[in-house]
Amino acid sequence: MANTIDLHTHSTASDGLYTPTELLQRARHETELRVLALTDHDTTNGLAEAAEAASHLAIEFIAGIELNTDIEGGEIHMLGYFPEYERPEFQQTLQILRDARVRRGERMVELLNEQGVNIQWERVREIAQGAVGRPHIAKALMEAGYVKSIGEAFDKYIGSNCPAYVPRYKLTPEDAIRLILSANGLPVMAHPLTMPGLEKLRTWLPDLVATGLVGLETYYGPYTHEEEQQLRDLADKHRLIPTGGTDYHGPGIHPTPLGGRFVPHEAVERLKEEAGKRAGTTPPAFVLPPAEKER
Ligand code: AMP
Ligand code: FE
Ligand code: FE
Ligand code: ZN
Repeated sequence: MANTIDLHTHSTASDGLYTPTELLQRARHETELRVLALTDHDTTNGLAEAAEAASHLAIEFIAGIELNTDIEGGEIHMLGYFPEYERPEFQQTLQILRDARVRRGERMVELLNEQGVNIQWERVREIAQGAVGRPHIAKALMEAGYVKSIGEAFDKYIGSNCPAYVPRYKLTPEDAIRLILSANGLPVMAHPLTMPGLEKLRTWLPDLVATGLVGLETYYGPYTHEEEQQLRDLADKHRLIPTGGTDYHGPGIHPTPLGGRFVPHEAVERLKEEAGKRAGTTPPAFVLPPAEKER
């Protein structure tokens, strides 16, 4: 059965290789997709263009975002669906997160330079058209001939165990949930088995559910049927919506092709139903804790 839904993709607004329009055109002409969500890291700047392109291509578009968060002993990525993203407070907070990405990227390039690896920050900025991330540094390393692939750049230079690694701004998973809720969005934990992994997931989930998590990315790119089943069971136990997608960034960044993961339509129906209940209501306010702003 051809898959028609992909709820996890990236564009040039963050670290994807295709513009929102190109992404939608590929979805239309190279896949069977009928529903697509764009979930760029720390930015909603690709959403308006994506929605416009989708409207011409008979694809149902769902607005989204992905926030990478850090927690003692691991990382959690939080997707947010249907955020009312024009809200000024929401945009201001995202801008703080993106500014922190710039400082962190500069610092990583400095560390690489100190280690004799000569790439220029200016070039990284040119490669990154939107929210800057490690994949952009990886591309600069490839261009300069230090590595042959993005994966090798992560293994040798910028992975979390490498000497040039600098942690991101420390957003907690709870604050990511609150930030998404503050725009009436639906917080969904991304690729839970990739990070944080099943054991930590079981420990951390109750607290995240209490904070307002509504979904668990269950039908994720490379997950096996057995893994999918484990996640479906956990989602049922905590009354979370099982969602899914490919995490498509363009060729060479993640293995699953656009639309290359079956996602049941129930995921979309349940997300829309939940979003409908919240749309236009006054959301809980959220302000980044000052101590978290500069670490
Ligand atoms: P950052 O948010 O700047 O720390 O970059 C993390 C992003 O890099 C993730 O969201 C992925 O898109 C990408 N990424 C992480 N690890 C790898 C890897 N080993 N190979 C390719 N891309 C990766
Ligand atoms: Fe990414
Ligand atoms: Fe992610
Ligand atoms: Zn992603």
